[in-house]
Amino acid sequence: MKFSRSVRGAALAATIVLTVSAGAPAAFAAEVNSGGKNGQGAHQGPGQNNGKPGQGHPGNGKPDKPDKPGKPHKPGKTDSDKLRDKVTLKGLLGHLNAFQAAADANSGNRAAGTPGYEASARYVESQLRKAGYKPFRQAFTYEQFVLNGDALEQVSPNPAAYTAGTDYLTMSYSGSGDVTAAVTAVDINLTGNRANSSGCEAEDFAGFTAGNIALLQRGTCAFGDKVANAAAAGAAGAIVFNQGNDVPGDDRTGLINGTLGSELSAIPAVGTTFALGEALAGTAGVTLRLAVDSAIKATETFNVIADTPKGDPTRQVVVGAHLDSVAEGAGINDNGSGSAAILETAIQLGKTGKFKLENQVRFAFWGAEEDGLVGSTHYVSQLDETGIANTLANLNFDMVGSTNFVRFVYDGDGDAFGSSGPAGSDTIEGVFQDYFASEGLATAPTEFDGRSDYLAFIENGIPAGGLFTGAEGLKTAEEAAIFGGTAGTAYDPCYHSVCDNRSNISNKAMDEMSDAVAHSVLTFAQTKADLKGGAGTSRSVPSEPAYKGHEALR
Ligand SMILES: [Zn+2]
Repeated sequence: MKFSRSVRGAALAATIVLTVSAGAPAAFAAEVNSGGKNGQGAHQGPGQNNGKPGQGHPGNGKPDKPDKPGKPHKPGKTDSDKLRDKVTLKGLLGHLNAFQAAADANSGNRAAGTPGYEASARYVESQLRKAGYKPFRQAFTYEQFVLNGDALEQVSPNPAAYTAGTDYLTMSYSGSGDVTAAVTAVDINLTGNRANSSGCEAEDFAGFTAGNIALLQRGTCAFGDKVANAAAAGAAGAIVFNQGNDVPGDDRTGLINGTLGSELSAIPAVGTTFALGEALAGTAGVTLRLAVDSAIKATETFNVIADTPKGDPTRQVVVGAHLDSVAEGAGINDNGSGSAAILETAIQLGKTGKFKLENQVRFAFWGAEEDGLVGSTHYVSQLDETGIANTLANLNFDMVGSTNFVRFVYDGDGDAFGSSGPAGSDTIEGVFQDYFASEGLATAPTEFDGRSDYLAFIENGIPAGGLFTGAEGLKTAEEAAIFGGTAGTAYDPCYHSVCDNRSNISNKAMDEMSDAVAHSVLTFAQTKADLKGGAGTSRSVPSEPAYKGHEALR
């Protein structure tokens, strides 16, 4: 739904770069865009290299004028008024109600491989069919991690039982075991910025007593590597505690919510807070009991996919949102919100059939995102070279209705976080920024760190972008000053918990974000631009991601 048309038809979208405050992290301060209604510093928004004539609305669209021979590299300004008018809050909330009902009728969740997921998929498919699509399922099987139980206790010298979810969390894909043993710290560093490569090299375990529990510190390499090295050195179990350093936007002191990859480790492994790791390291002669009862379960699930009948399939825009929830709850913000936004956009785009589409749009409702981006990774793995080349872009929408929201746009050009997406991701970021600026709405960048379904796309050189309104991270004072809401509180206080239900939605965020979804989908569906920047443009892919879905890898 369209929120405001205040500056529609005005000259260029202005992006104002604000300096937020001296105390703000530099990356953040450098790139918060106030929605730019009253600003100096207007930069050239899309529209300069416009690929399309306007749609009959004055002020929208400029003539097709590539700056060099050949195709322009950026889309022009797209008139999305009509589509946004049709994508209404009422329509979106109807979909959220349906997702809540799917959970309510099926043990309270919509997790991959469950009846609640099946019910969600059937709803999406029926809605798509009514709008003229022919949705299909792409099935896949994967090894889902199942945790049956765990325990962490200090046996001596200070007997204590630690609490799962507060003091420790079993790493996903931890192997099973029940060990009581002495604890040996491995190459840890509790001073200064606590930089370390604890357990990253086999040499770190020189002199390690086989059968002991390895106490490892987060830092440098992946948790999976640390735990594998510990197992190779004869450790009976592994504890990885948080690093205890200061990284803006990243919790390096609290509980680690980590994953070891996609296969069970040889020994049980848990992540802990920095405080617990530090305490254990400082206790002489400590003996712990570490127990994990886990398994992997072959799970069959699927993605739901629907293509627009019109548009060039060799320039396909994949618009994705994961449809599965975590097992803890109904997942209405994560990610009923993104699913509803792309579903309503698909419906309105399909229903009228009146929008001219240069490029085919493929709407993808991913399965098993919460188990490590499984559905989207499977999808990209099934593309051959031509399939990759024919994918113009991936737009990803994962959590767009957070109650304490920030309008985060993926940092496609890497200017805020240093890791850019493949060429073209910068252009996608710009389309979102310019859109919000034209609506007078502020945005902030969010890192391509591997936390959602764009990952497999950018790892294969496909430009990507999208929106996010925040998860468990705490809103800063600077953000609260710009976006409203409550500083010091999570963007989504119900993230991955039972209260992520129908009441865990900001209608304002849904409304604004879904308009941006509709705008971006239409922009990339209509552009003739060569997003990838033409021949010879590097398609850089990011270095190893820090996350695989919501769980940290390192
Ligand atoms: Zn999600």
